Amino acid sequence: MSAPAARAAALERYEAVIGIEVHCQVRTASKMFCACAVPPPDAAPNTHTCPVCLALPGTLPTINRAAVEHVLTTGLAIGASVPPATRWDRKNYFYPDLPKGYQISQYDLPLAANGSLTVETSEGPVTIGITRAHLEEDTAKLIHAAAPDGRRVSLVDFNRAGVPLMEIVTEPDVRSAEQARRYAEELRLLLRAIDVSDAEMENGQLRVEANVSLRPRGTGPFGTRVEVKNMNSIRAVERAIDFEIERQAAALDGGEPLRQETRGWDDAAGATYVMRVKESSDDYRYFPEPDLPPLVIDAAWLAALRAALPELPAARRARYRALGLPAYDAAVLVNDEGMRVAFEAILAAGPGLPPKEVANLVTGDYGRALNETAERTASGLAGRADAASLAHVLGEVVAGRLSRANAKEVVAEHVVGGRPAAAVIAERGFAQISDADAVGRIVDAVLAANPAAVADVRAGRSQALGFLVGQAMKASRGQANAAVVQAAVRERLGRGGDG
Ligand code: ADP
Ligand code: MG
Ligand code: ZN
Repeated sequence: MSAPAARAAALERYEAVIGIEVHCQVRTASKMFCACAVPPPDAAPNTHTCPVCLALPGTLPTINRAAVEHVLTTGLAIGASVPPATRWDRKNYFYPDLPKGYQISQYDLPLAANGSLTVETSEGPVTIGITRAHLEEDTAKLIHAAAPDGRRVSLVDFNRAGVPLMEIVTEPDVRSAEQARRYAEELRLLLRAIDVSDAEMENGQLRVEANVSLRPRGTGPFGTRVEVKNMNSIRAVERAIDFEIERQAAALDGGEPLRQETRGWDDAAGATYVMRVKESSDDYRYFPEPDLPPLVIDAAWLAALRAALPELPAARRARYRALGLPAYDAAVLVNDEGMRVAFEAILAAGPGLPPKEVANLVTGDYGRALNETAERTASGLAGRADAASLAHVLGEVVAGRLSRANAKEVVAEHVVGGRPAAAVIAERGFAQISDADAVGRIVDAVLAANPAAVADVRAGRSQALGFLVGQAMKASRGQANAAVVQAAVRERLGRGGDG
């Protein structure tokens, strides 16, 4: 059986129950509990450390206000509730990447609880409950390598120790790999929209883990769950979950009990493998952090963060739909910051333009120009573009004074050079001739010069019609409106719309 067929068969008998845990590096200048700068991804090992994040005796943590604000902002954006006060807890375990022997985290009083995110799927919208979002610190990185003398050594890079991480945990509400992928995509979009993180998976700023279990369809209790880690892209998240669904279904069918364990995803092999048997939270001996005071979140602080929230992606998509855009266009624009900015700017500069035409320009000709230059104007447009010129181009197209083929060239040239679109159109001689009298004069001359072709058309050979239209276009140096030329030729040769 093929993989999709095996999965489809498994899903007839079993229902997947999935919860997603996301770790997100929130954007701050300094680390979570010390003044070290957050290292860039390419920083040399152990260049961003201090006595606090190295856990030297006698040092004390201090709370990074910006990191707290990012989690509160996220909480507001997912409709979560925020407690009036919270505190920090120690999560104790021994591992060489954890210098203190515990991680400062939050246990029973997270900064945000009971939120949700609604995602579009192929089966319609699905709302995923979000249990909590809390703040914690990242660990150091272990590098297993060979020393110059050939010995195998483990090296510790403490740069990431103490980098602020927000953990966002869902309810076990996800029912398929597709829903998990859409949740991860929507959450990443949201985190970028509210400006709390760049959320780049390839830089480790966003890590997505999935807890996957199966239960026979129509039954209540959840099955034994497996936690899957090490997915390096959202596509990998989807593939890993699909793999687990098949693997677990085969095990259950074979009467093999599943173990609660942590598995890693091997992207090249397209399979998960056992990493370790899962710890339970009892093993961590959580207790309140005595070195930090409780954190009071007063209403005015929260209100200020709420007031600073931008329009969220879901609301934006809904607004674009209300402008008459298809769901697909609305999603494309909201997913791409560069296109979204241009769409808004062109609409503002040309309020009478049909929004669907603006979307077509932005995702088409402008989108191409946007991808070809990394340069951005102060307002976020591609290259040296300005919204008034882009609106002018579209206005000319809509009015029939500029062909779409020429519009593409004008946009490309305007984006690179920044010259006003009207000037480019004039200089390139792109002004399209749509005036029926002017086109008629050109057509009359062409018909007079080509009596043989005219006779052919009259004799019913329609190929000759195309020839005459082509000659008229040529005579106008491509400036005539092709549709108006067609109509003029047909009218003069007494042929209707039959071709
Ligand atoms: P842990 O302490 O191991 O991280 P949590 O209780 O925080 O465990 O749950 C982690 C994630 O696993 C959550 O997203 C939760 O919704 C999900 N989850 C819990 N039980 C199951 C289950 N039986 N099957 C799938 N996911 C589950
Ligand atoms: Mg967890
Ligand atoms: Zn430090």
